[in-house]
Amino acid sequence: MQALLDDVVRMAPILKSGIGDVKSFDDFKLLTVAINRLSRWTRPGLLLIGDAAHAMSPVGGVGVNLAVQDAVATANLLADRLQRGCPSEDELDAVRRRREFPVKMTQRMQMVVQNNIISGALQGGDRPLKVPLIVRLITALPWLQGIPARLIALGVRPEHVQSKAAPAS
Ligand SMILES: Cc1cc2nc3c(=O)[nH]c(=O)nc-3n(C[C@H](O)[C@H](O)[C@H](O)COP(=O)(O)OP(=O)(O)OC[C@H]3O[C@@H](n4cnc5c(N)ncnc54)[C@H](O)[C@@H]3O)c2cc1C
Repeated sequence: MQALLDDVVRMAPILKSGIGDVKSFDDFKLLTVAINRLSRWTRPGLLLIGDAAHAMSPVGGVGVNLAVQDAVATANLLADRLQRGCPSEDELDAVRRRREFPVKMTQRMQMVVQNNIISGALQGGDRPLKVPLIVRLITALPWLQGIPARLIALGVRPEHVQSKAAPAS
């Protein structure tokens, strides 16, 4: 275990001051990487959003973005309605109908990167990693660089707070 802790501090020196709190393997948490999606996000009186509805992989660092955008869409669609009591399951399902497309698109992009870039890097070996044509193209043409930057930073179909009820309540 000490060898592992030494590796962690070597790679992330910022963690050095707190690493002493890790006293046994019981203090380790394994964060499993998964990409999946529920076909149904609701039950009567219950709505699942964020990773509860669609687990995101770390690829692109966009999972938090999607979870927050789900929350914004939920406020936009349901804040008014919630002030008048519990929405019906069909009303709750409006969140899935709005958010499923951005989630699917983002997960598809994560799978493409996972299968074409990351899995090759993880397999290791002596062969140098070959940069895919699309990445070389984007790197070579500056005007193309805005597209992946926008997709990662803002996502597909970005959400904006619209609900009048949200700030009032
Ligand atoms: C290894 C790894 C690295 C990642 N890196 C990034 C990254 O760099 N950037 C990025 O944007 N995304 C990243 N992601 C994805 C990101 O972590 C998730 O998409 C995001 O955290 C989802 O947010 P959430 O609020 O839906 O769920 P979560 O962040 O999982 O929040 C759910 C919360 O509910 C709590 N909870 C669970 N059960 C209960 C209960 N019964 N009662 C009370 N509380 C409970 C949990 O403790 C947790 O705090 C990564 C994922 C993995 C696996």
